[in-house]
Amino acid sequence: MNNRHPRWTIGRALFILMILTLVAVCGWGAAAKNVILLIADGAGFNAFHCSSYYEYGELGKQPYDVFPVRLGCTTHPYGSPIYDCKKTWSNFKYIRSHSTDSAAAATALYTGVKTENKRMSTNPDNHPLTTIAEIAHSLDKSTGIVSSVPFSHATPGAAFTHNEGRGNTDEIAEEIVYRSGLTVVFGAGHPRYDNNGKKLLGKKRNEDYCPDEVYQALIEGITGRGWTFIESKNAMEALAADPTPEPTRVFGLAKCASTLQYSRDGKRRGRLNGNVPTLETMSLAALNVLGKDEDGFFLMIEGGAVDWANHGNNLDRMVEEFADFNKTIASIMDWLKQRALTKETLVIVTSDHECGQIWGPKAGEKSKTPFDLPKSRGKGKLPEAKHYSTGHTNALVPLFATGPGSEYFHALVDGVDEQAARVWQFSGQYVDNTDVFTVMKAAITD
Ligand SMILES: [Zn+2]
Repeated sequence: MNNRHPRWTIGRALFILMILTLVAVCGWGAAAKNVILLIADGAGFNAFHCSSYYEYGELGKQPYDVFPVRLGCTTHPYGSPIYDCKKTWSNFKYIRSHSTDSAAAATALYTGVKTENKRMSTNPDNHPLTTIAEIAHSLDKSTGIVSSVPFSHATPGAAFTHNEGRGNTDEIAEEIVYRSGLTVVFGAGHPRYDNNGKKLLGKKRNEDYCPDEVYQALIEGITGRGWTFIESKNAMEALAADPTPEPTRVFGLAKCASTLQYSRDGKRRGRLNGNVPTLETMSLAALNVLGKDEDGFFLMIEGGAVDWANHGNNLDRMVEEFADFNKTIASIMDWLKQRALTKETLVIVTSDHECGQIWGPKAGEKSKTPFDLPKSRGKGKLPEAKHYSTGHTNALVPLFATGPGSEYFHALVDGVDEQAARVWQFSGQYVDNTDVFTVMKAAITD
């Protein structure tokens, strides 16, 4: 007996006929005018859960917990074996191998193609790959990137530049400023400020993320690309509060070297850099500019320093960074609602990879409970959790989606991780990071 073949009953035939009629009449889903992709860099399920415990004392209260699509997502780079549930849950250390970096993961998310680590929207033969931002641009939509880390870093950079190596930040910064079709750019990476948001003295410069001459061209308005350049917190807050801003192309460079907040002195949360905007402010400023385009927009927003905090095994600042990311999403959903854009906007919240191998305090390869879960200590308190690695892992990351086209994810499910389902309380179904591109493209070209 083989029960796997569907039995052709009258009921089933009628049901399929009904679906076909619906598709014929309504079209296969509605097209998305706008796409917003939100990436908590370096955040697996347990990072999301730790942040939920810290902010709300419990799970289920994050702004995307109400989204209709809730899945896992695989992140392995080109040349690595596909995600393996069995090995993942039988050996605590296994997940530390075959991990992606942010460049290869961003390339997969933006172009649908797996590539080698360090590559920025180029394939292993170094050919440029077309990104979702470029596709949106070709459809006359506005495009933008916002990040709490340097604008030339892997995740924001790969949205509209192509390079063989993420380390070539000078080339990437130049490509973004002089040759990309981006409408708005907001991020850190200022060559004249330090990590505490203090101006560098004399002729001292930090050109790790942006050549000083690129900054000079921006501030003098001689890039030839029509950027309205802003760098003060006040200017960014004013733009975030202005529903009909004047400028059509905006470059916002926060006055700090590498991250808005994470890299400032100290290790604990609180006592923030005072002269830089939040991710939320930069995102609303970006949206107000993008919202002027009648043809719609693509926007990528990265909570980039979540990854930096996890590399640093700093739970304190990880939840601090994550809180800004969550606040940003709540504000975006309000912004969409106010403008009646919720039904025309595909919103996807995910991560590019797990980082730091976060588990409960009793986890680890030598433990009797290797996959001990983080536990809440209540709202406003750090959860009981520990990092077990300082690097990236190949673990599943969460993916949430809502809006037109989000339903396409269900057709792209690659498998079910039963153990992940039990541990993280979802269906266990997972897609691949390349599917994010497939869904975004289908949604805007429908
Ligand atoms: Zn990282």
